[in-house]
Amino acid sequence: MIFQEDVPITPIGMIHSCFTEKFGIPRQPGMVVSATARLEMLPPCNREEMVRGLEQFSHLWVHFLFHQTVAEGWKPTVRPPWLGGQKRVGVFASRSPHRPNHLGLSAVRLEAIVYEKGKLFLELSGVDFLDRTPVFDIKPYIPYSDSIQSATCGYAHGENPAVAVVFGESAELFCADYLQKTGRNIQRLAEEIIGQDPRPASQKKNRSDFGMLLWNVNIRWQVKDDCFYVASCSEVMA
Ligand code: SAH
Repeated sequence: MIFQEDVPITPIGMIHSCFTEKFGIPRQPGMVVSATARLEMLPPCNREEMVRGLEQFSHLWVHFLFHQTVAEGWKPTVRPPWLGGQKRVGVFASRSPHRPNHLGLSAVRLEAIVYEKGKLFLELSGVDFLDRTPVFDIKPYIPYSDSIQSATCGYAHGENPAVAVVFGESAELFCADYLQKTGRNIQRLAEEIIGQDPRPASQKKNRSDFGMLLWNVNIRWQVKDDCFYVASCSEVMA
């Protein structure tokens, strides 16, 4: 054994996110500002005093587990979407969820700290977490040291410019009704996600029907000549 001690690690919280499935989750945090999640702090880390002072920070680092890729394992090299899914780089030169230990790290916005029915929640936005993601730690984001102006990022250039997203009449009516019922602006959320073209590199030529689950809403869309068209939205029963 190389390490003398155990390496104990236990989740401190669980994410409740708008992303009920993986398809559509942005590739990095901060890309979809309307993407929200609640981080439910779990015992023994659900004590008010443990987040005292955190409200003074606008952003947090969240350490988490890519829990849905654990069973899929990992490979020493991966094909990042930035390289069109063609070329391979080392797993440690990538942000791939398929990595040893499957650990994720995201800088997200802290919107509020909420106590509700004896539970402690951190309200987050700009997230890239799947629903039910286990969280191992949070730390305040400190711009003067965490943001490095001179940093270079090789092959990981920014995303493509957003494409226009057009909603069909019935889809738009559904979203207005859903907003009234739940307070969730699913139209804006879907616009931001689809506008960034969530199709994997291997599907970029596929124009036909795509389905995406946000909260409990199934959103169906397709590629038209100069835009992405949302044909329908419907609620999925739990
Ligand atoms: N901030 C991240 C970016 C990783 S890749 C990091 O470097 O750690 C982001 C992708 O991870 C998303 O597009 C989504 O498909 C996937 N993802 C997010 N949460 C996940 C989870 N709990 N299990 C498996 N995959 C997840």
